[in-house]
Amino acid sequence: MSAMQSAQKPTRFAVIGSPIAHSKSPQIHEKFAQQTKRTLTYEAIEVLPADLATFIQAFFESGGAGLNVTLPHKEAVFALAEVSSSRAQLARAANTLSLDSEGRLRADNTDGAGLLGDLEQNHGVTLKGKRLLMLGAGGATRGVLAAVADLPETERPSNVTVANRTVAKAQALTEDFKGALGVAACGYEVAADSSFDIIINGTSASLGGELPPLSPALIAPNCCCYDMMYGSETTAFQSWAREHGARLAIDGLGMLVGQAAESFFQWHGVRPSTAALIDQLRSK
Ligand code: NDP
Repeated sequence: MSAMQSAQKPTRFAVIGSPIAHSKSPQIHEKFAQQTKRTLTYEAIEVLPADLATFIQAFFESGGAGLNVTLPHKEAVFALAEVSSSRAQLARAANTLSLDSEGRLRADNTDGAGLLGDLEQNHGVTLKGKRLLMLGAGGATRGVLAAVADLPETERPSNVTVANRTVAKAQALTEDFKGALGVAACGYEVAADSSFDIIINGTSASLGGELPPLSPALIAPNCCCYDMMYGSETTAFQSWAREHGARLAIDGLGMLVGQAAESFFQWHGVRPSTAALIDQLRSK
């Protein structure tokens, strides 16, 4: 993509997706801007798949500085980008776009770093030496594992298992991560032979209030359970975790704010704090 350099320092940002009206991203980025004393505009723009490439080109050519990308475009923008971060390459999906110093479209994936940041900064949980179980083998799980692979060896979990309804999809993920991160793949019954210190639900079962068939034996003493989904109610996975003695049962609102903070850092070079904003969004 050829980029026209804007004479003014660019300050225009947006999130694109379809549907997009529900997005909290404008609110989050405006709060971060206030916190870090920056002036910017951040809109939510509905973009249909057929218009994606044209929209992105026009946005950056007219001086736009950065885009966040949500469903259903995360894989498509990764394919459009000329350069991409290692975590976007592993996830094969991106949620953050900018132009690099040579004007090339650059893709990054901050979803996983957002979740890890929320765990560490807001809940005091690190992955170091832990047994990690990921439920689901879709884009969200790939994003998280890409961030795990980005950690220094010494900060990584002792082992990583992906359990999925369609086992072949978990196995394909293992193959894709080969060389970057050791990942064991299985179905839900097999996973129940072990217990885990951290269990992250990356299935979209939560959207329908459902749960994969999980054995309570998966929950090790002191286990931290994290549902990537969030909403006004406690999720089915959080309820299951609490019922079976998990120490923590966290929802994905902090991940949403965390991925935004990480995108903000990519664009502005400063990482805003997230805890107060998460509380504020939760109390609405
Ligand atoms: P995908 O469609 O890529 O993957 C969905 C996964 O869920 C698959 O592994 C699928 O299994 C599994 N699944 C779906 N329904 C069921 C079910 N009834 N029982 C068991 N497994 C099921 O979705 P994403 O990975 O993009 O998103 C997953 C979740 O993560 C969504 O709820 C999304 O909202 C959330 N998310 C939250 C973010 C945040 O910022 N908080 C960011 C990104 C995602 P199978 O392969 O067998 O079909």
